Amino acid sequence: MDTLQSSNGGSSGFVPLSRTEYDTLTTQLAKLLHTEYPPVIVPGEAILGIEAIAAGIAAPGRRFLNVVTGPYGTLFGEWLERGGADVEELRVPFDEVVTVEAVEEAIKRTSPDAISFVHAEVITGGSNPAGEILELARRHDLITVSDSVSAVGGEALRIDEWSADLVAIGAQKALGGPNGVSAVAVSPRGWAFIESNARAPRSSILSLLDLKPPRAGEAFRVPPYIPTLEARALIAALEAVEAQGLEQVIRRHERAAESAAAGLRVLGLEGWQRNSDRRSTLTTTVRIGGEPRLLIKQPIGIVAPGDGELNGQLLRLNHFGANASQAAVETAISTLAGLLELDAAQALEAVRSVWEKRS
Ligand SMILES: *Cc1c(COP(=O)(O)O)cnc(C)c1O
Repeated sequence: MDTLQSSNGGSSGFVPLSRTEYDTLTTQLAKLLHTEYPPVIVPGEAILGIEAIAAGIAAPGRRFLNVVTGPYGTLFGEWLERGGADVEELRVPFDEVVTVEAVEEAIKRTSPDAISFVHAEVITGGSNPAGEILELARRHDLITVSDSVSAVGGEALRIDEWSADLVAIGAQKALGGPNGVSAVAVSPRGWAFIESNARAPRSSILSLLDLKPPRAGEAFRVPPYIPTLEARALIAALEAVEAQGLEQVIRRHERAAESAAAGLRVLGLEGWQRNSDRRSTLTTTVRIGGEPRLLIKQPIGIVAPGDGELNGQLLRLNHFGANASQAAVETAISTLAGLLELDAAQALEAVRSVWEKRS
C-alpha cells in the first residue's frame, strides 16, 4: 500500500496512513471549510496548529493587530512577539465580544500587515463577528488569522467566500472528533506570507511549510508522521458530519444554546456574555455574581467551573459535540436548579419548548 511513512514491519498489524486516506482527509476538510485549497493536516492538537501559524508568520518588521477576547488570544500574541513581530493588542473585557467598529478604528490607528482573532470562544461563551471582521480586513488588504477551533460545526465558516488566509480548526469541539490531529486552512496569500518569511521554521514540529499538502501525484519532501489512529478517527467523524449534514450539526448547536438560555432565564440566572446576539453556540456561560451556591470545584456533567482567571466568575455549560442535545441541556439545567435549591420543572419546560420550536 502507498503509505506516507514506511511501515516499521512489526507484527502488530499496524498500517500507517495511506496517501489515499490522507487525500480523503484533506478533501473532507476542504469541503467542510468551504475552500478549494487542501488544508494542512496538523499532527497534534489544535493548539499546535495555532502555535505553528504564529511561528510561520511572525518576524521583526511585521506588524500585527491581535484581537484578544479570551485567553487563547493572549497566548497567540505572546507567540507572535516571541517571533519578533510588532504586536498591537485590541483587548475587550472577557464578558464581551469585539465590535467591527472597534476593529476598524484599531486598524486605522495601527496600520497592521495582518490581523488575528479567535472566532468563537468556548471559555467566555462569546462569538466574534468573524465574517464582518474578515470583510473589513480584506478591504484593508490585511492577512487574516482566525482560531476557529470552537466555531467549526457551530456556526458558519466559509473560508474562500470570506477570503480567510490562515484558519485553525479542530474536530473535538462541535464535530465530535478526536483531538490528536487538527488542521490549518491556508490560502495562497497565506502561503506567500509564510514563504516570504525567512524566520518561518523548517524541519520543525512548528513548520507549516514541512506539512504543506503536496499536489496530486507529488510526494512530500519529508513525509510527516500524521497520527494514524487519530487521522482515521477524524475521517470517520467527518463522514458522520457529512451524513448528518453540516447545516444540521450547526442547527443542533444553535438549538442547544437557545434552549439553555431559556432555561437559565427561568432560573433567574444571567448570561456571562453581555451581548445575547453574539453568544457561542457551543457553550453557554453563566454569571456567578457572588452566588456562593454556584461555586463548584469540579465539573458536574457538562456544567463546569470557569477556566483560569474566570474561575469563580462564571460557569460553563458545555453543550457541544454529542452534548449538543436536548437531554444534555435538560440535565445541565436540572444541575443548576439543584445547586440553587430550586424546582427545575418550569425551566425544563422552557428548554423543551425552545428545543421543539427550533426543530
Ligand atoms: C479548544 C480550543 C483550542 C485548543 O484546542 P486543543 O485541541 O485543546 O489544542 C484553541 N482555541 C480555541 C478557541 C479553543 O476553543
